[in-house]
Amino acid sequence: MSDQTQPPWLDLDHAHVWHPYASVTEPAPVFPVESAEGVRLRLADGRELIDGMASWWCAIHGYNHPTLNAAATEQLDRMSHVMFGGLTNEPATRLAERLVSITPTGLEHVFLADSGSVSIEVAIKMALQYWQGRGEHRPRLVSLRGGYHGDTLGAMSVCDPVNGMHRLFSGLIPEQLFAPRPECRRDEDFTDADIAPMRELLATHGDEIAAVIAEPLVQGAGGMHFYCGAYLRALRRLCDEHGVLLIFDEIATGFGRTGSLFASDAAGVTPDILSVGKALTGGYMTLAATLCTPDVARGISARGVLMHGPTFMGNPLACAVANASIDLLLAGPWQERVAGLGRALERGLAPARELANVRDVRVFGGIGVIEMHEPADMAWMQPRLVERGVWVRPFGRLLYVMPAYVMEDSDLDTLTRVMVETVAEAGER
Ligand SMILES: *Cc1c(COP(=O)(O)O)cnc(C)c1O
Repeated sequence: MSDQTQPPWLDLDHAHVWHPYASVTEPAPVFPVESAEGVRLRLADGRELIDGMASWWCAIHGYNHPTLNAAATEQLDRMSHVMFGGLTNEPATRLAERLVSITPTGLEHVFLADSGSVSIEVAIKMALQYWQGRGEHRPRLVSLRGGYHGDTLGAMSVCDPVNGMHRLFSGLIPEQLFAPRPECRRDEDFTDADIAPMRELLATHGDEIAAVIAEPLVQGAGGMHFYCGAYLRALRRLCDEHGVLLIFDEIATGFGRTGSLFASDAAGVTPDILSVGKALTGGYMTLAATLCTPDVARGISARGVLMHGPTFMGNPLACAVANASIDLLLAGPWQERVAGLGRALERGLAPARELANVRDVRVFGGIGVIEMHEPADMAWMQPRLVERGVWVRPFGRLLYVMPAYVMEDSDLDTLTRVMVETVAEAGER
């Protein structure tokens, strides 16, 4: 490539680097980022983009935040990492205590994992080992259609079996059971029809089921689907009736994104096992955690040890930044900010409801979604959005944003206006 405005290393990226869900023989274009500040990404050619993605839900405080930078550099001067087997460190211990205190009451034991997918593997292992500890053979999980729980093999097994990757790996991943996704958007819309298929599954297979897993209130990467808390309360009751564990995956919804600190809080449901990740370090480093109740922890320990231990478990650097990020969140008016995001997204995206190529516009907490009738033409839409100065990554029929909580109204107005204009333009092509 001879484009003078592109950095020389971009050719090396094309030659050697895998990107998410990508081909190396037909690589999709990628935009080189030089730096990021607040809610803006600065491209190598000098252009600045308003970032609507917060780097896949993570960067809730914006980029290059002085408080998080200070926490990282301070910890860096002490130690960046030491192993967690046989050793421990203060940032990891403090983080575990913080997570116990801010998540629903009853979750008391914390496994620090190195990514969301790994925290789901750990959640699944916890459930399986719990039943082994009790001497019961319960090898299966139940999940919701439309769910997304990560890309490792165990996590994939509980992702939506159609739009997940089951077909590619059939025979290699465990076969789980699936209930339809709930369609009740608000508690008032909840009817027995929403929960009846789950009740039937548990009635038929209850004694072989270790746990039910769900993303509470918001199914993220499986389709940005919002559903009501009444379903989760009914699900909790069903799980209790059948003695089945309940796992919540709050990797996307945790740390305020839906307007509550955790979606579990809004639903008024405490799961037996909870995974958090993504915004945990404010987007600085990869870190996730799996929490469980004393009952689950004791059940596992009855027959031995929890069989997991990543090399970078309890990484002090990531934990120090996570502590700073949680403190920063709780010290600020995050509820007002997320509510403000919601109002601005609702106002800004509303005009898309009039477009013929739009099927639905929905906003929940700090999440805004335009759902089109047809999948976006990525090759056209992605560069078009960038030309207009925003970073939003279309996904199938969806154009969605979950901006940093600190985004100003003027930037939100630009972001949503560009989204609506670009979808309108797509409809005319
Ligand atoms: C992103 C995500 C995961 C996977 O986390 P990674 O850190 O990408 O492994 C799992 N569950 C949900 C709900 C997610 O949004």
